[in-house]
Amino acid sequence: MKILVTNDDGILAEGLWILAKELKNVGHVVVVAPDREQSGIGAAITLKKPLRVQKVRPLVPEIEAYSVEGTPGDSVILALEKLVKDEIALVVSGINPGPNLGHDVLVSGTVGAALQGYLRGFPALAISVFLRETRLYLDDAAKVAALLAERIASNALPANIFLNVNLPDLPLAKIRGVKITRLVNEGHIDTVEEGHDGKREYYCLVPQKINKGKDRTTDVWAVQQGYISITPLHIYQDSRAALIADSFFTAGLGTDLFQELKKKGGQ
Ligand code: MN
Repeated sequence: MKILVTNDDGILAEGLWILAKELKNVGHVVVVAPDREQSGIGAAITLKKPLRVQKVRPLVPEIEAYSVEGTPGDSVILALEKLVKDEIALVVSGINPGPNLGHDVLVSGTVGAALQGYLRGFPALAISVFLRETRLYLDDAAKVAALLAERIASNALPANIFLNVNLPDLPLAKIRGVKITRLVNEGHIDTVEEGHDGKREYYCLVPQKINKGKDRTTDVWAVQQGYISITPLHIYQDSRAALIADSFFTAGLGTDLFQELKKKGGQ
């Protein structure tokens, strides 16, 4: 089984190589990752600019590794389309030092990379660990990723979901269990701080402290309570959004929209 490993923290990040090393026990690992830190870039792709790729010396022996002068999304697309010859069975993105919960998944490069795999029809998961000042349990997170990879290999993921995995700031021995969760309806990176460099004022977007969630179905609650959170993510490919829009229009808010457009066009 071929596993593509990527991240948004760059090809030299510790979390990437701890993950690659552990996944090597499960399958044949190929690392394709951005050449620099790209946290917060989401699923962005590079257009109108050539993408340079370099085969690099791996930090874990015998792993084929490429550094991409682009985003996490670019890395995944290049890997799937060009760099890796055989079919990839799984895309794993991480391990991100810091959680990706709630609205933050929409801007997370870690999740964005997994999303690019998912959008191309590949099983994919993103994995992040809660950030603790003293220690990050990256080895433990890598073990979780490896176990999930094994399970996905023998019992395929439904095609319409991918997984966002977050670990609490605890060693495996102290983790209370696994919860299948939904995204909390809040984000954690919307605090704006002001500064001054002596010449000009500037602003910084700063992550907020994550508050204790009360809703036991959410990702935040799970990690705060010492559980591993696994959130299935998907893009609605059914007509749910269309149905909602339909009732919105038939509620009278938009029934005469086209008539009004025609009138405007006729003016
Ligand atoms: Mn990151």
